[in-house]
Amino acid sequence: MVQLLKRIPEWGVRPEMPPHEANHLRLTNVLLMLMTCGSIVWTLVLAASGAVQAAVVNSSAPFVFAGGLLLMKWGFTKLARLFVITIAFTGGYVVCTVVGREAYFQFIFLFASAFSVIFFAREEKYLLGFSLLFALSCFAGLEVTDYRPFAGFERATLSVDSLLFMRLMSATLIWGLMVGHFGYFVKRRRISQEQLVSSSKMVAMGRMAAGIAHEVNNPLQRIVGHADRLKFMAASGSVAPDQISVLSEQIQVVAMRIASIVKGLLALSRDASNDPLEEVALSSVINLSLDYCRARLESHDVQLRVGEIPAQWTVLGRETQLSEVLLNVMSNAFDAAVESKEKWIQIEATLAGSMIEISVTDSGAGVKEDLRLKIFDPFFTTKPVGKGTGLGLSVSQGIMNVHGGHIALDSKSARTRFVITVPRGDDLTRPDIRQLDA
Ligand code: ADP
Repeated sequence: MVQLLKRIPEWGVRPEMPPHEANHLRLTNVLLMLMTCGSIVWTLVLAASGAVQAAVVNSSAPFVFAGGLLLMKWGFTKLARLFVITIAFTGGYVVCTVVGREAYFQFIFLFASAFSVIFFAREEKYLLGFSLLFALSCFAGLEVTDYRPFAGFERATLSVDSLLFMRLMSATLIWGLMVGHFGYFVKRRRISQEQLVSSSKMVAMGRMAAGIAHEVNNPLQRIVGHADRLKFMAASGSVAPDQISVLSEQIQVVAMRIASIVKGLLALSRDASNDPLEEVALSSVINLSLDYCRARLESHDVQLRVGEIPAQWTVLGRETQLSEVLLNVMSNAFDAAVESKEKWIQIEATLAGSMIEISVTDSGAGVKEDLRLKIFDPFFTTKPVGKGTGLGLSVSQGIMNVHGGHIALDSKSARTRFVITVPRGDDLTRPDIRQLDA
């Protein structure tokens, strides 16, 4: 017996199942086992208390739950749960309308069991959808009052209070089911959106990779060259301390440059959505993004013009996310400029009251009038498959909203000009910086 009790939870569980699925089958088995035992005990209680009709109706419950368990054992795990849900809902209503008041406990018991089985099945949308529709139709069936039970059973007369109780109980359960059901879709949607957002990030990172390879390769070549010269000096015995110090200093500088590129890449690739909003130097935000575009722009002969960015200007936000926005806008500007004749991109920053505006203008053909409202929509892209995801601007807009700023296409500009507006830090109001200014 003990052996059997130990084996039952494993019924229907297969070794290749993912752990969460295996666990929820184990829980379903335990639940069905408890329901089988519980309904046997309750049938006996009803019989002992003289409620014969209730006991007879209830005596079917152990068979139902044990039947569910057997289906689980034979590997029909979905069918087993479907079976229990169906029987529990119909059974719940039938026992109440036939048995009457004595069946309330049974009603709650059946409903609670169906609900728990569904709870463990909430990842399975068809099962959930079915149980929701089924529960709704049973609920509607409760309103049909002019039928006569078969096989000699008496129909219980339900008082207004009893009906109210059943309606309330059913409505609560159906409401719970709907929450579970729609929760499932919301969760799925969120997961797939997160996956897409991260894949758009991957595309941007992929594009950056080419630029980074260039950025890192050049300094590395220089390090190798300098190391060669040091080796040669050591081999020829002509060791000049001055030269050694100059060469090693240059090695240090270029190695630091590589380190800062790698550090920036790590910063950009991490999830910064939970970081606090901080005061960061505007120049550092802009430089972090430019680090990943410069080489790409140079290799395609796209001229980069950066206006004066005063060192003391700060913005309030998350450096990584703001750089990501700028990088998205720069990537679009690059795609547009590279197709044009003049090939240039211009970045400027201006003060606008309590905000700072960062503008990115390019020499590209621009955004067609009828597309201007659409470009911020998620998944809207005019780029070929594999190149555009249509998420760059919508993700950027989301990030800017969280920052209390915004991003817009300047419709008055003759050229394509995107303006990123960010709350300004308190740099200019800080006395130490005012002194520096003076
Ligand atoms: P993606 O770059 O993956 O297409 P975005 O959301 O970043 O996604 O951009 C959406 C669309 O907006 C682009 O496909 C393009 O048509 C348009 N767009 C964005 N920036 C520019 C620009 N600087 N010049 C021309 N069109 C642009």
